[in-house]
Amino acid sequence: MNIKAQISMVLNLDKCLGCHTCSIPCKNVWTNRRGAEYIWFNNVETKPGIGYPKKWENQDIHKGGWHLKGSSLSLRAGSRTSRLLKIFHNADLPAIDDYYEPWTYNYAKLIASPTRKHQPATRPKSQITGKPMPVTWGPNWEDDLAGVSTTGDGDPNFKNLERQIYLQFAKVFMLHLPRLCEHCLNPACVASCPSGALYKREEDGIVLVDQERCRGWRYCVSGCPYKKVYFNWHTGRSEKCIFCYPRIEAGMTSLCAETCVGRIRYVGVILYDADRVPEVAATRDEQQLYANQTSMFLDPADSEVRSAAISQGIPESYLNAAASSPVYKLAVEWGLAFPLHPEFRTLPMVWYVPPLSPLIQFLESEGEDRNDADNMRIPLTYLANLLTAGDEAPVRLALQKLMALRTYMRSQRLEEETNLAALEKVGMTEEMAREMYQLLALAKYGDRFVLPTVKREAKEDLYQAQGSLGFVDV
Ligand code: SF4
Ligand code: SF4
Repeated sequence: MNIKAQISMVLNLDKCLGCHTCSIPCKNVWTNRRGAEYIWFNNVETKPGIGYPKKWENQDIHKGGWHLKGSSLSLRAGSRTSRLLKIFHNADLPAIDDYYEPWTYNYAKLIASPTRKHQPATRPKSQITGKPMPVTWGPNWEDDLAGVSTTGDGDPNFKNLERQIYLQFAKVFMLHLPRLCEHCLNPACVASCPSGALYKREEDGIVLVDQERCRGWRYCVSGCPYKKVYFNWHTGRSEKCIFCYPRIEAGMTSLCAETCVGRIRYVGVILYDADRVPEVAATRDEQQLYANQTSMFLDPADSEVRSAAISQGIPESYLNAAASSPVYKLAVEWGLAFPLHPEFRTLPMVWYVPPLSPLIQFLESEGEDRNDADNMRIPLTYLANLLTAGDEAPVRLALQKLMALRTYMRSQRLEEETNLAALEKVGMTEEMAREMYQLLALAKYGDRFVLPTVKREAKEDLYQAQGSLGFVDV
């Protein structure tokens, strides 16, 4: 057993407001340089939709992630030799129009405008050519379903659903999906890079680009199935979400999580058995990937795990953080959170609690089962295609647990009798329900973000590490 610690995140989609407040601090702090105008390490998409860059989920187009060749795992982008042969022309790369052409405005014209009858206006101009341009796409172009009647057809999560029905006004549904790098356990970006510039940090699993080694081949950009590595045209190097490691090392949470208005994000440590990564990523049945990935996670309360981890050099502070990790509780103990598109086989480590939605049919009698996950406005199949490679059972159970929790709390607060039957039906105890309610609804900062500090400055020559941590200037 090779125990490793991974910093990971859970996002509760039930509470996402789609306010984009997470994206802005990340943009302002990490990608405000030249060459990074179009880059959003964190963006919020509206689903259904094709997202940013366009159709990122469709690996028939972008050839990202892994697939099984016979029984072995190989990159969709092709073998090492075939990738080297097309190194000067990688046809799988998204083009700038798939992201969007960044634009700005001539603000000086507004400020310097003399007083006149009508308000002054300024046209968008391209940040690439400097010329006036029409704005036709952006990182949240489909916000709140704008234009989805045109683009929604390209959303692959409608697999096994009649998509045209769900794009009709009367049937339409929506949810917000905030996205950042998944800091995968089996990252395709790392495996794709011919220069070995991408790496997964030993101590916390954060995936970084070594700016000194990067040669701008951009295989990481096409190799990442989530399209969360970007090319900075000015420096000629790749850049990606760094999970705000300078903050994480100091025991603070990432900026996107810190600023989240809906308090949907939880950040914590998870322990896993790294020896099992190749076997789990090569699971034959893709619907088993979620369950197998969960089985890699180790119980931080288990004394054997704890002593093995200490003997393998994992600091006690990490073990203590893992023992009260909200991520472990939500994803492993309670089975409420799921990985995004596990079928890409990168073993992603940013997980999502599926959103509840109104029931389609009005339930007349009091005795009727209100926990009907199959009857919700957001089709269960759609959520399963997004989170469990189409396996509906675990998503159904998670939604039923959330609904049972609601029924239980409602019975306690508004009705005279406590409704324990709803909990028992989904295998929950009262204690579990109270703990879940505390974490999902009331949790304070220190409960949502449980992170150990790292004394990096005491151990390493930081000057030596310059560039390897993701930024030339660090
Ligand atoms: S999500 Fe992040 S770690 Fe995973 S393949 Fe993409 S860039 Fe690499
Ligand atoms: S973890 Fe930090 S770098 Fe990554 S998306 Fe969030 S704010 Fe941006």
